[in-house]
Amino acid sequence: MPDPKPLVFADLDDTLFQTRRKMNGNAPHRQAAVAGNGDPRKSSFMTTQQSVLFDWLNSTTELIPVTARSGDAFSRVELPFHSWAIISNGAVILGPDGTPHADWAARTQDLLHPLADQMQDILDQGRSAARMHDIDIRSWIVTENDLATYVVFKLNEISEVSLMGLEALPIHAEGWTRHFNSETLALIPPGSGKAAATDYLHQHLNPDGTRPSLGFGDSLSDLHYMQGTDILMIPSRSQIAASL
Ligand SMILES: [Mg+2]
Repeated sequence: MPDPKPLVFADLDDTLFQTRRKMNGNAPHRQAAVAGNGDPRKSSFMTTQQSVLFDWLNSTTELIPVTARSGDAFSRVELPFHSWAIISNGAVILGPDGTPHADWAARTQDLLHPLADQMQDILDQGRSAARMHDIDIRSWIVTENDLATYVVFKLNEISEVSLMGLEALPIHAEGWTRHFNSETLALIPPGSGKAAATDYLHQHLNPDGTRPSLGFGDSLSDLHYMQGTDILMIPSRSQIAASL
C-alpha cells in the first residue's frame, strides 16, 4: 500500500490568495475567487508563486481549506479543491462531495442554537460602540442553514485610526474568540472555531497519527488550529510573521 499523503490544513484569504489591494506590487497571476458583489476590485488573486504552491500542494497532499468564508463565499472560490473543507470558521465541515458532514452539523447545531440571542446581542453591542466611536463599519451574523455561526464587523474605510478603533471595539463576550486582522473583527463562540473542526477532521483522517500534517495560516487566531498540526507554515508577510 502506498504511503498516505500528508494532510495540509490551509487558511485561504491572505494565505493562499488575497485581494489586489494586498498584493504589494506583485502582478495577479491567477484569479482565485470572485467577489460577492461582482466588484472586480474585490476579487482575489494568486501570485505566480502562490499558484505554483497551490498546484503542488493540491496534487501531492490532501489539501483541506480552513476558512472563515461562509458556504456562499466559499462557493465563489475557483480553486479545484477535491478533499474535505472547513468553512464558516469551523461551524461547517464539507465532505469531499461538497455536502455538510452530518455528525459535525449535529454537533454544531447543539452548540450554536442556544447562542443565537447572545450573538444578536454581540452584534448590537458592536454596532452601537462603532456608532459611538464614529467608526464606519458593516456588520452581520454569518449564518449557515439559518444557524447563526459567528459575528463579523468590517471597516468601510481603512485608516490607522479606524483600524485601532475596530481592534479596541468594546464588546462584552466572555469566552468568545476575538479574531482581529486587517479590516475585520470577528467574534467566534466558545467551543466553535477552526481549531475544533480541524482537530475533529484530523482525528477522522489520521486516527493512528502516521500522516504528517501541516498547518498554513496568516492570522494570529489561525495559530489555534495550526498548533494541532506537526509543522506550522506562515506567509512571510502576515500578522503572525509581524508579531515574531
Ligand atoms: Mg487569512
